[in-house]
Amino acid sequence: MCEFCTQHGEGEKWYLVMENYSRELLSQEGRVEFMEDFLVNFEKDKGTSLARLDSLRSRPKLYRFFRRKAEARARAEHWGQVVPIEEIIEIVDMLDSVVRMPCVCRSLTTGRKARYCFGIGIDPHSILGKYPDYSHSLEVLEREEAKELLTSFDKKGLVHSVWTFKTPYIGGICNCDMDCLAYRAQVKSGILNTMFRAEYVGMVDWELCNGCRRCLSSCQFGAVRYSHTMKRAAIDTRRCYGCGVCRAVCEPGAITLSPRRGFAGLSW
Ligand code: SF4
Ligand code: SF4
Ligand code: SF4
Repeated sequence: MCEFCTQHGEGEKWYLVMENYSRELLSQEGRVEFMEDFLVNFEKDKGTSLARLDSLRSRPKLYRFFRRKAEARARAEHWGQVVPIEEIIEIVDMLDSVVRMPCVCRSLTTGRKARYCFGIGIDPHSILGKYPDYSHSLEVLEREEAKELLTSFDKKGLVHSVWTFKTPYIGGICNCDMDCLAYRAQVKSGILNTMFRAEYVGMVDWELCNGCRRCLSSCQFGAVRYSHTMKRAAIDTRRCYGCGVCRAVCEPGAITLSPRRGFAGLSW
């Protein structure tokens, strides 16, 4: 299991622990103010700090030093984990408030507005309503409505993740493609890690796989391979993030998720 399961979940999956969504936790350690500041200054802060880190890559010692510092800060303040749709639905069932809002990082990476970010457990009027950019397009969702939307995102191939605001409080569910800033920093450019992989890895059952190859283009982590000799797909467990979205395109149901901890040597 990932280190947060040990630290914040007593050995269970930390993101399924109700306390990590509680209003009591939200009211402690200046979390509300942290969230306000995070949203308002996101574009300025994240854009600048990633650009600075990137500029240090030609000086490896300095880069490693600042990367370690940035990752330690991210773990303490704003860290994510990929979570498959079944457990995202479990999370939504534990919550009493879900708000759909504009994506801060898609706005930064593409300059366009997109609405795949869900604020959870927060009072939209007390935190987000103060900011015109957010308040004009906040959408308070009923639980069933939120679950339907998330399921439709899964079918579109969007990867779900949960995010902390001063760990271990979880205040967001994200639904991302390659325009996500965390994806670009961690997977595409490898500058900085800000999230764990899921507690799972994907597996292909060759008895069921018909070799259609639809799963190859559905994986944004480049984890699916195709064997021309065997005429079957296979998942590279070292690259797999365990998001499970490749299952949605597999008509024979050949892809399943297995617990990551069952595979020796795989990291989170
Ligand atoms: S992490 Fe994904 S869903 Fe969240 S704001 Fe960024 S792009 Fe949007
Ligand atoms: S989508 Fe399913 S059936 Fe098609 S290649 Fe991938 S695993 Fe095999
Ligand atoms: S192969 Fe792994 S990372 Fe890629 S879509 Fe499937 S579960 Fe996600």
